[in-house]
Amino acid sequence: MEGSLTARDRVGIQDFVLLDAYTSESAVLDNLRKRFNENLIYTYIGTLLVSVNPYKELGIYTKKQMDIYMGVNFFELPPHIYALADNVYRTMLTETNNHFILISGESGAGKTEASKKILQFYAVSCPSTKLLDNVRDRLLLSNPVLEAFGNAKTLKNDNSSRFGKYMDIQFDHMGGAVGGHILSYLLEKSRVVHQNHGERSFHIFYQLVEGGEEDLLRWLGLERNCQRYSYLVQVGEGECAKVSSVNDKSDWKTVRKALSIIEFSESNIESLFAIIASVLHLGNVTFVADSQGYATLNNSPEIHWLSKLLGIPAQVIQVGLTHRKIEARSEELLSPFTVDQAVYAKDALAKAIYGRTFTWLVNELNESLANKWESVPYFNNKIICDLVEEKFKGIISVLDEECLRPGEATDMTFLEKLEEKMGGHPHFVTHKLADQKTRKTLERGDFRLLHYAGEVTYCVVGFLDKNNDLLYRNIKEVMRQSKNAIVKHCFPSTEPDSKKRPETVATQFKSSLVGLTEILMSKEPWYVRCMKPNEGKQPGLFDDVLVRHQVKYLGLMEHLRVRRAGFAYRRRYEIFLQRYKPLCPDTWPNWKGTAAEGVECLIKHLGYKPDEYKMGRTKIFIRHPRTLFATEDAFEV
Ligand code: ATP
Ligand code: MG
Repeated sequence: MEGSLTARDRVGIQDFVLLDAYTSESAVLDNLRKRFNENLIYTYIGTLLVSVNPYKELGIYTKKQMDIYMGVNFFELPPHIYALADNVYRTMLTETNNHFILISGESGAGKTEASKKILQFYAVSCPSTKLLDNVRDRLLLSNPVLEAFGNAKTLKNDNSSRFGKYMDIQFDHMGGAVGGHILSYLLEKSRVVHQNHGERSFHIFYQLVEGGEEDLLRWLGLERNCQRYSYLVQVGEGECAKVSSVNDKSDWKTVRKALSIIEFSESNIESLFAIIASVLHLGNVTFVADSQGYATLNNSPEIHWLSKLLGIPAQVIQVGLTHRKIEARSEELLSPFTVDQAVYAKDALAKAIYGRTFTWLVNELNESLANKWESVPYFNNKIICDLVEEKFKGIISVLDEECLRPGEATDMTFLEKLEEKMGGHPHFVTHKLADQKTRKTLERGDFRLLHYAGEVTYCVVGFLDKNNDLLYRNIKEVMRQSKNAIVKHCFPSTEPDSKKRPETVATQFKSSLVGLTEILMSKEPWYVRCMKPNEGKQPGLFDDVLVRHQVKYLGLMEHLRVRRAGFAYRRRYEIFLQRYKPLCPDTWPNWKGTAAEGVECLIKHLGYKPDEYKMGRTKIFIRHPRTLFATEDAFEV
């Protein structure tokens, strides 16, 4: 029968919880390896899905596979991301509550791919109407757009997401997708102006240069040659990094088409590419020192193009890039930059333009995904952020303080301050402190944090730069004059001109995480743990040491212990009773007593054994998934 378990599907154990022998880390590793070698990349720990990146197409994401997994209970079929997606969906419909799927794992482990598979599954499995199809298509198409602007080739992953993403899908009572919302956090803006050896900037730059139509490039003043753009050529290398697995030309077509279908207006699309081109032109701007050492700019072609594309007079851009405005008493003075300061200001501007455009893009996607049936309020995290901000003392605040001393502070002074403030902390180690706390040596310039899941060594080089997001006020004023609709929108005149501390990258990150946590607290969690089998992006290679390390820090053993010992399946009494009351004549159609009493009566009737369940304060806890599935099956008898 199609969809039933074959002998190959049974290689190893498909749920770690089910077999008593599987309690040690080595046994877990053995099982993962055995299954991986048979191309069985998925394994459960209860309802948690473990996924090992196969780095090859397995042919398991077809429409036929989706059909097989629709409406089928866990454990009846081989583990699959579709089984998880389907279960979350059906639980949501029967329990009418909110759920989220948390996908974790290191870079290149397959998180983005997993999220796309889930989305594709819903696109096919949810009931559809013309209106819903619209939402569905937009949800699917938002991915290539987000990836073009937010993903980049890194050493670990050719398509690495350089921002955090939380995607929300709203369903109606019939299970149709009626709206969506994307929350993005901490785009790695520094990548716009600098990439490490062998890495690239965001895909969109290469897509535009490689794939952009001739007329478009002419209009943007771009040449079809990435090597021409210093922001795309890493310092000291003189060459763009190559990626064989990425086709910029065809990706360009996909993105261009997606933008149209999502109903971005043609004028917005034009403005968007004018911005991407402006960033490239800005990167090619060079300064020379005048006789007093101040930065000057020739009337170079770059300034001409910036002026045209941003709709700002060339003279205004020139002054903006070489001066900063300072206030003395009630006067405003223009103070000239040195060459270094001008380069710094230019890079800050490029990062700001790109970062703000990315935010604009996400907002536009959200407009297009918005639920037209009803509006859903999204959490405003301002209050909590302020609170955390005030209370927070630690590495981030030391970093922020150092960022406020431009010219004086360096990565090393940051490290010294850390040693001074955190030295006494048992989980903080540096080169200087290493001898006293651990026998392992550390390079000068490194610090090590002894995290719960293991030790991580950080190198302070570049910390200050990456954290610094300072954009001079007068450059913002220059941008405000732009005739480019998106730039104008991204630099509003109402922006609070913070005389107080500017938000640094680290602070922004912290704030957005707080917001996310708040959202997740109100929903039921499901987990996907992604792992990479080797560091070389190779199919068929299972590196024991690497996988063992991930088993550790993804907390799989802890999870397994909890699931085995505990009562992994829990349901609120009301929900349990509502769902299963038709199975018992005493509780059907209406139970007069409390929900807990009703559940007690119900399970007595169903014949649950005492060790199979526990009655909690508000919930029933069920030890084994089989018990619950047997109850589900009772409906069909
Ligand atoms: P990052 O944190 O860098 O964004 P990630 O966890 O999102 O990493 P992905 O981009 O999802 O990683 O996966 C990296 C690559 O691994 C993919 O581009 C693809 O080539 C391969 N891959 C991941 N999952 C699968 C899968 N289920 N089947 C086949 N290949 C996969
Ligand atoms: Mg990713």
